[in-house]
Amino acid sequence: MQLLNERLATISDISAAAAVLNWDQQTYMPEGGVEGRAGQLSTLSRLAHEMLADDETGELLDSAGEPEPGSEDAASLRLIRREYEKATKLPSRLVAELSGARARAEPAWARARAESDWSAFAPHLEKIVPLILETAAALGYEDHPYDALLDIYEPGARQAPLAKMFEELKAGLVPMIREIGSARAEDRSAPLFGKFDEAKQEEFGKAVISAFGYDWKRGRQDRAVHPFCINFGGPGDVRITTRFDPGWLSPALFATFHEAGHAMYEQGVDPAYTRTALSGGTSMGIHESQSRLWENLVGRSLPFWAHYYPRLQKTFPESLGETDLKDFYRAINDSRPSEIRVESDELTYNLHILLRFELEIALLEESISVADIPAAWNAKMEEYLGITPENDAMGALQDVHWSASLFGYFPTYTIGNVLSVQFFDTAVKERPEIEAGIGRGEFGVLREWLRENIHRHGSRYDPEELVERVTGRPLETGPYLRYLEGKFGELYGL
Ligand code: ZN
Repeated sequence: MQLLNERLATISDISAAAAVLNWDQQTYMPEGGVEGRAGQLSTLSRLAHEMLADDETGELLDSAGEPEPGSEDAASLRLIRREYEKATKLPSRLVAELSGARARAEPAWARARAESDWSAFAPHLEKIVPLILETAAALGYEDHPYDALLDIYEPGARQAPLAKMFEELKAGLVPMIREIGSARAEDRSAPLFGKFDEAKQEEFGKAVISAFGYDWKRGRQDRAVHPFCINFGGPGDVRITTRFDPGWLSPALFATFHEAGHAMYEQGVDPAYTRTALSGGTSMGIHESQSRLWENLVGRSLPFWAHYYPRLQKTFPESLGETDLKDFYRAINDSRPSEIRVESDELTYNLHILLRFELEIALLEESISVADIPAAWNAKMEEYLGITPENDAMGALQDVHWSASLFGYFPTYTIGNVLSVQFFDTAVKERPEIEAGIGRGEFGVLREWLRENIHRHGSRYDPEELVERVTGRPLETGPYLRYLEGKFGELYGL
């Protein structure tokens, strides 16, 4: 086991070095660095992959013995074995073909989106889909090729239970969205547009996430085109980025809360797991549950703003001086069907994911052709949200994921949303003082509860086991739907 752990530590160091280069590329690197950096990153990722897929890793796995069930060693072994199998099951010819297809598809997608021309992207997606099916077959699955792909991002997740989860969400959400649509008198988001000095936005965001418990001795915040959170093999250095719009308050504010949620998960992992298989969050869905919890359950709640709004008003008297708390709260929770997923509100967001989930399944089942995607997309938008995108740039071309061959990734966003409420409800049940704390700008009890129950375990438990351990239940949509019905029912008088 010790030799295996040493090998993992080396792989972790290589990946961490690549992550630093990646962070630099997205924050400070001058344009001239692009080509050199691509070479460095590909060398490091090749080295990490070769070390993991090497026969010696297999031999060390075979001779690692049988650690005590439930122990940290047993968890490590399970995780290393799973990564080793994923790395060795894929023929190198397939890996190369897929990465080549991806490298050509991403710029083609960017051009196609700029020109809103699906037919310019379609040939690339037509190449990617069979390669994705081949990947699923090589990785292996019992019921559905989608299972093998989901497992990459959300270990243990399966297509059938997810389809059920989405059906429940659809049944609960579509009628509410229709009712709000017809009840809507006006666009409520106006207070969020005005003059918002970037430095002041930054200062306010930093003050809030400091109160959340983001640790600046083990992190920093910089600017990047797309907000993200990144760590380097352990909880000692977990960085976030954001972007500012001087005319629009929402993007930086909520992205800062969101990324801090991701970062506090990573900062909370047991330091003893650094450079091991147990380091870092356990899945994309669990990660997203943490970012959404801070962004939405805390950061879009009325008690939170009852405490922070006077301060925000003082920060931006020119733009917010005349807006009262109630109107500000309505503005940040403005719900309106819209074309673009990343700009959508809490209520409509998951229907954007449902639509992609259904189309991915249809592509893998070959029940739809690539050429027919835009029409199917628009029909589903009309059915679920009552709107038809103006063009494909606002529709099927809006997200980068398919050009990056990330099939099975989208559902983790919804898993995260659903779990954010399930975890939050459990926390409040066990520590009722959390809610009053939020109203005083005190988040310590909530943060420590999350750390104790979720963060410190890193990847030790797979998502399903973690959810059971923390909430005593499997993932369920009930708490999430009740939360949305309560919140938006009140906001819109449903
Ligand atoms: Zn996120």
